[in-house]
Amino acid sequence: MKIGFIGLGNMGAPMAANLAKAGHEVSGFDVAGATAEGASVASSAAAAATDADVVITMLPNGDILRAVAAEIIPAMSKGAVFLDCSTVDVESARAVAADARTAGLSALDAPVSGGIGGASGGTLTFMVGGDDAGLAKAQPLFDIMGQKSVHCGPSGNGQAAKICNNMILGVTMIATCEAFALADKLGLDRQAMFDVVSTSSGYSWSMNAYCPAPGIGPQSPADNDYKPGFAAELMLKDLGLAQSAAESADADTPMGAAALALYRQFVEDENGRGRDFSAMLPRFETRGRG
Ligand code: NAD
Repeated sequence: MKIGFIGLGNMGAPMAANLAKAGHEVSGFDVAGATAEGASVASSAAAAATDADVVITMLPNGDILRAVAAEIIPAMSKGAVFLDCSTVDVESARAVAADARTAGLSALDAPVSGGIGGASGGTLTFMVGGDDAGLAKAQPLFDIMGQKSVHCGPSGNGQAAKICNNMILGVTMIATCEAFALADKLGLDRQAMFDVVSTSSGYSWSMNAYCPAPGIGPQSPADNDYKPGFAAELMLKDLGLAQSAAESADADTPMGAAALALYRQFVEDENGRGRDFSAMLPRFETRGRG
């Protein structure tokens, strides 16, 4: 397939490289001049999109996605697929998909989980919103870039699934970290805490697969001085998207709101930026109730 790939950052570059390695003809563009192994360099986003069967975007936020969409939709061939893999607000995802459909294109929003490791290893999970025809065309690409794709419904539903998942993740990570800090103060050994919780009703991905306590459980960023992994500021972004969506849908999400406030404080006032989101544990460790 001929693929245009726009946004060759931490995630986009390895995803584009995997598509090129699998034999697809990839034309890449990044406003900062970033490139991807095996992809040719286009002179603009519109040039990358021209004549492509599928155009993939992997961009920082909804405003940038809307600006890039306005540039590339007129350049794309009728019947081509506009596949956005960025994490953006549900409204931008739906607006861009509607514009693409009006122009005779298929549109999919397919945010990912799995991070930079998943992007390089081709093991991402895609949460897909959009039509069946677009999905059928994009499926072989999901199979190269990832290990799983779930069709979540119409446009915007991929983003909805992503922010709901990450809202649960932010909340459970905080709960796991504050429980470890409480256990410390009660004199409970961390290994014993892990052995109990990871096999009891308090278990979660945060405890069992990504334990925030160094030296406990499987290897995780905690064992590497909390280098990300999944950076706290990316969690903050996703929790912000979840709260904006909750406001526009009139959903009551008090735990999501509390997690947003705490990650904001951690990132903006407590040197959390650039640290893994599980570094909430050393944050709690040093604090009392005051
Ligand atoms: P990044 O900042 O490394 O990459 C974004 C790239 O987009 C940059 O290279 C930037 O130059 C480029 N860009 C910005 N504006 C552009 C424009 N107008 N035209 C062309 N290129 C433009 O970010 P990332 O870590 O690769 O993340 C990309 C998306 O994936 C984000 O939406 C993020 O939330 C999501 N995501 C990231 C991770 C992660 O672990 N990094 C995990 C899951 C999802």
